[in-house]
Amino acid sequence: MAAPRHPREGERLASLRSYQVLDGGPDAALDALVAAAARALGAPAAAVSLLDEHRQWFAAATGLPAVLGHDERQTPRDVSFCAHVVAGGQPLLVPDATADDRFAASPLVAGPGRVRSYAGAPLVGRDGLPLGALCVMDTEPRALDEAAVRVLRDLADTVAELLELRRADATAGLASRDVLAESRALRAGIDADQLVVHYQPVVELASGRWIGVEALVRWQHPERGLLPPAAFLPVAESSGLVVPLGRWVLREACAQVARWRAEVPEAADLYLAVNLSGRQLGEADVHETVAEALALSGLPPQALIVELTETCLAGSSEQVDVALQRVRDLGVHLSLDDFGTGWASFAYLQRFHPGAVKIDRCFVAALGRSERDDRLARSLVELGLGLGCHVVAEGIERREQVQALLAMGVRHGQGYLFSTPRSAEDLRGSLHRARPAGRDGAPAARGAAGAP
Ligand code: C2E
Ligand code: MG
Ligand code: MG
Repeated sequence: MAAPRHPREGERLASLRSYQVLDGGPDAALDALVAAAARALGAPAAAVSLLDEHRQWFAAATGLPAVLGHDERQTPRDVSFCAHVVAGGQPLLVPDATADDRFAASPLVAGPGRVRSYAGAPLVGRDGLPLGALCVMDTEPRALDEAAVRVLRDLADTVAELLELRRADATAGLASRDVLAESRALRAGIDADQLVVHYQPVVELASGRWIGVEALVRWQHPERGLLPPAAFLPVAESSGLVVPLGRWVLREACAQVARWRAEVPEAADLYLAVNLSGRQLGEADVHETVAEALALSGLPPQALIVELTETCLAGSSEQVDVALQRVRDLGVHLSLDDFGTGWASFAYLQRFHPGAVKIDRCFVAALGRSERDDRLARSLVELGLGLGCHVVAEGIERREQVQALLAMGVRHGQGYLFSTPRSAEDLRGSLHRARPAGRDGAPAARGAAGAP
């Protein structure tokens, strides 16, 4: 007999796949929840069953041989009880399977398996679709009372939350890695001074004059070479290491730029942009961290721009609003990074009143591709300018892009065309490009574009 299907089965399967948990290895936290369910309900067996297209797969289970006659991690979908939980989206109580037409002939009941009673509660994913069930099984007939069903439901919700965490880790590319080991290695790297800050100039597009630099962290790994932030920031973010790491970047970069401003006359007005992570914003004393970096370096607050991405602002709380206001009160500017890529760009413009927006490089890369792409970029620029923001374009790689951006009214940008991010020592020799256009009769534009 075929198992029933959920009314939105296609979407449900896509949602399940996005968790990337099918066929994964043992999971100690899930095992503990399954054991808790069996214990709390006095059942010899319990399982987290995920309902795939043609099978149910047990992400965790206890006591299976006692009721199924085997310890395999999966059974065909059509014989599974859990398919009925998923189809109905409700807890399913089968006090006596031999007396239930839907299950009496199932091999789990009448075959090698000796399941006599079953109770399952749906695991509802964040898309609102059931992924499977948390269930308890017994070889004896058994009816659960209301309180027991509530326990099962609560545990099922906890399992669903755990799966959600697994999905978040998988999305961040961390699922297959040993996050703990990686964060220990990163901690050791920080302690061994292996982190370095590189700087990418922000230029005035019309003249090529350097007006600021963005600090971008790298890890000079002893075996793996120079690692970009994407290789270690997700681990730093999930372990919380990004807080001390970000504090260090801020101090280091403020000190560096303050030195350049003092030592290189042309760079006297150079500004510094530093990226802040969501985790840092969640710290109650983030403004003190910023104030400290400014005080230690002597960099004036007006010379600092804090860049925030929508990802780091997403779902942010009142606490973050307060933190940002305190940072702003120091006299520091706020900039919305990767502008246009998040779903809530407009909401953030309204909420945070950033002084600057950075048009994401995907829009710059698409310039000239089609009328539609150009119009999209232009709309973002107009929105930023219309709100009185300083607009910076990111990822400029070609001269035509400079022309197109200038025509749209963008005055500032950064990208490989001008310079890749470079070490402080490397950049030092080029700082004369921060000289205002025309001073000493030397047009700063000369040789600026394209010559790193
Ligand atoms: P972002 O803040 O948007 O930084 C710009 C990124 O674009 C940098 O990547 C830069 O190297 C790259 N880029 C610059 N010009 C071009 C170009 O012309 N073409 C292309 N294809 N790419 C260009 P990077 O250094 O890998 O940094 C990636 C992201 O990591 C940054 O994006 C930022 O969000 C984050 N990040 C970097 N340093 C820090 C840090 O100290 N703290 C925090 N919280 N995040 C950081
Ligand atoms: Mg940035
Ligand atoms: Mg960006």
